[in-house]
Amino acid sequence: MLEGLKFPTYEAQTDRPLISLVVPVYNEEDSVAHFAAAINGVIAKSWPDADTAPRFEIVFVDDGSRDTTAAVVCAMCSIDSRIKLVALSRNFGKEAALSAGLKAATGDAVIPMDVDLQDPPELIRPMVDLWQSGAQIVNAKRVDRSQDSFLKRTTSRLFYKTINAIADHPIAVDVGDFRLLDRSAVAVLNEMTERCRFNKGLFSWIGFRTETVEYARPARQTGSTKWRVSRLVALALDGITSSTTFPLRVWTMIGATISLLAFAYAAFLIIYTMMSGGDTPGYASIMVAVLFLGGLNLFSLGLMGEYVGRIAVQVRGRPLYIVSTTVGF
Ligand code: UDP
Ligand code: MG
Repeated sequence: MLEGLKFPTYEAQTDRPLISLVVPVYNEEDSVAHFAAAINGVIAKSWPDADTAPRFEIVFVDDGSRDTTAAVVCAMCSIDSRIKLVALSRNFGKEAALSAGLKAATGDAVIPMDVDLQDPPELIRPMVDLWQSGAQIVNAKRVDRSQDSFLKRTTSRLFYKTINAIADHPIAVDVGDFRLLDRSAVAVLNEMTERCRFNKGLFSWIGFRTETVEYARPARQTGSTKWRVSRLVALALDGITSSTTFPLRVWTMIGATISLLAFAYAAFLIIYTMMSGGDTPGYASIMVAVLFLGGLNLFSLGLMGEYVGRIAVQVRGRPLYIVSTTVGF
């Protein structure tokens, strides 16, 4: 039944497609030039025939760096027209910076990448090949994370397990932001008004024909990691609250179960007291019940707060990021 259907590939639109590499950078003055040089080298090697190679642009999004990152990128823009800069007015975090880059990118396909070469540029060719044969999203899956720290690996595995157990729509395991997105997917993402943004969740949620390439995650090549534990926890919470309301629903079930048990116990107590005339005051049982229920109440209230807080952010409707300057567009 599907035989007659032909999926459009890029050839239908243009001969040499434009690929945008979107690179959020925060205090990466030592890494940006290194990154651009590595990309140039790998692209030249991946497409030996320059006439048939796709065209490239590198969109650096300076996420309010406090070092000279913006100046370095600016200098690179003036000697290489493929390099572009979107400078945000302050540090908005990687998710917002990535969104700014997706909006600014003009390519037929867009590939978000980290500047530290942990996303191997050698994968660009296989990703583009899959895209040209009809895939709209090409995920890059980390099959070997031995270069990441033990703590990062375990917490990340736990996170993917948890979120996929409760999310309305599963997110791709061990696929970071590094993936190829067709223009049609980017257009949808740019339309999404979500403020507490968890891009990995959105990338999976939008669907589209998806293929996967696998790779071993190398260690960071230059500079140092920009993540703090608190940021990662916040990101994980954003991920969970934006992909499911299950944590809210759980309390309905727990509440119902506990009410039922309490009701049964109350009935027992009433009958028991009528029959035996009651016994010594039950300090222990009352304390246990009060503390247990108090704890549950606080916890569920806190959880509710996580959602309510995000509703507040969404309703306020502030922009996700503020662009202060753009260079090279
Ligand atoms: N980054 C950013 N804003 C931030 C933190 C990080 O734009 O607030 C960028 C950073 O410059 C890098 C990418 O996000 O290009 C990934 O950061 P990092 O390599 O430190 O993360 P890790 O690989 O350790 O998860
Ligand atoms: Mg990194």
